[in-house]
Amino acid sequence: MNGEAILVLNAGSSSIKFELFDVVGDAAETRLDGQMEGIGAAPRLIARDAQRKVLADRRWAGPDVADHAAALGVIMGGLERATEGRRIIAVGHRVVHGGPDLAAPVIVDHAVMARLRDLQSLAPLHQPHNVAGIEAAMRSLPGVPQIACFDTAFHRSHAWEADTFALPPEFYARGIRRYGFHGLSYEYIATLLAREEPALAAGRLVVAHLGNGSSLCAIRGGRSIDSTMGFTALDGVPMGTRSGQIDPGVVLHLMMAEGMDAASVQTLLYGNAGLKGMSGISQDVRDLEASDDPRAALALSHFAWRVRREIGALAAALGGIDALVFTAGIGENARALRGRICEGLGFLGIAIDPARNTANEPEISPPGAPTRVLVRATDEEAMIARHALVLLQCSRKT
Ligand code: ADP
Repeated sequence: MNGEAILVLNAGSSSIKFELFDVVGDAAETRLDGQMEGIGAAPRLIARDAQRKVLADRRWAGPDVADHAAALGVIMGGLERATEGRRIIAVGHRVVHGGPDLAAPVIVDHAVMARLRDLQSLAPLHQPHNVAGIEAAMRSLPGVPQIACFDTAFHRSHAWEADTFALPPEFYARGIRRYGFHGLSYEYIATLLAREEPALAAGRLVVAHLGNGSSLCAIRGGRSIDSTMGFTALDGVPMGTRSGQIDPGVVLHLMMAEGMDAASVQTLLYGNAGLKGMSGISQDVRDLEASDDPRAALALSHFAWRVRREIGALAAALGGIDALVFTAGIGENARALRGRICEGLGFLGIAIDPARNTANEPEISPPGAPTRVLVRATDEEAMIARHALVLLQCSRKT
């Protein structure tokens, strides 16, 4: 398939991230990436090549790039030059929610589109933007297959015990379940390890995807067994601005005893909690590590405590642990925090080699440790491009 390219889009509330991949034989190789942010407010487009050299950095007035369709129009204009005659053969989309049934990537047709719109009620903060991104891409690239890849899909292998809440069964039937998210990241790490070390990847892994959004996943034999995120991407460990797991009684108390309305609770739990809310300083671990404000230290301490607790819980779900894998912005970079998270996990065979950790080596446990501790960069866009390529090749054969 030489001379062909795959475009991957990740449409958020006010941004569209994009990455263009060259199709080289059976592989997708990154050519450039970037994002249009501040859609409708202070639009700014940044694009970089595979060596991270900035190819474009432009700003507009808000009304000039008013919505996702306009943003994609600008992106496509830039890509036309950058593709140098390569034909875009598919667009892969990151879609947050596939609901109970969509357990694998799909080519979007009218029926799938209707399904994705139905699922908007399960993820009202994200799904409508993902759908808007697909609609914009359909208009921009008519006739080009649009492929939806779901953050929930990798977790559809969960047993009912892990998937359900302790509610009457009709809630489960209505889709009130623990879906889990960051699935594309976990799938990327699982396939990466399966290539690097098949025996290890066939065992019991806890993967800690720690970024602005954070979760952990228990993987056995390459399949997701359980995850810290649940019905929404609010559950589990504390995040940059999200609270993570919170006693549901707190929500009831805030609303019933303190008179907060649903919108204010939502703003608190999604936007003003987590590292940012606890510290009152920043959601960024780098800022908190650089600060001498005691609230910064307390926020990091709580974060490490909760992540450590979840590692223990997921090791229990797996019946043991062969490797712990750190990934995403914090997992790949925050050496001191990784060390703190692993403190006291010796009972699971987990220890950190300080020199390896400081050097940010791919393996940060001591040589011969019973449980290996690894650091790997995740790449959700590459996972989407791969899915798109495989699906396209299958559809061409049939
Ligand atoms: P997203 O969930 O938006 O994809 P990332 O996975 O890129 O986020 O993670 C971003 C976060 O990673 C930052 O907010 C910061 O807390 C953390 N981070 C990135 N680089 C470093 C670093 N060198 N040291 C510590 N933390 C870092």
